[in-house]
Amino acid sequence: MKAEAGNVVIMHYTLTVDGEEMDSSAGRDPMPYLHGSGNIVPGLERELEGKEAGATVSVTVAPADGYGEISGPGPQRVYSRQLPEQIRDWGVGRAFMAQGSDGEDIVLYITKREGDQVWLDTNHPLAGKTLDFSVEIVSIRESSEVEREHGHAHGLDGNAQHH
Ligand code: ZN
Repeated sequence: MKAEAGNVVIMHYTLTVDGEEMDSSAGRDPMPYLHGSGNIVPGLERELEGKEAGATVSVTVAPADGYGEISGPGPQRVYSRQLPEQIRDWGVGRAFMAQGSDGEDIVLYITKREGDQVWLDTNHPLAGKTLDFSVEIVSIRESSEVEREHGHAHGLDGNAQHH
């Protein structure tokens, strides 16, 4: 079975940015994702297309094919009391959906907190960064109908509780 649209690819991965390891599945369960659904950055998904279980892939992904180029005005400071109550205590690195000035949905990342002030940015924390991925495909399985409906994988075996 190949990594192609509609299959769940289960992989171990390490992400390195500027020579520093940012994230890795080493020592944990491998990570499943639904291929072709934009669950992982486009540059990595494209590189994995057509690969089979056992394949190891090292790929350098440019910002535009990763978390995007840095754009917009940069982090904006607000008071935590201005945020919706359920996210007021969220830490740096978390993201939530908000409405832009034209009523469009935008994702805002919490980039910094200081006292009762919070900095929000439309840029992903890894925007503008070149990403070095090292991936090993552990296995590939068919997705369930529910996974395809949701557009993401439900755990290693497809039966994980919905997240
Ligand atoms: Zn789901």
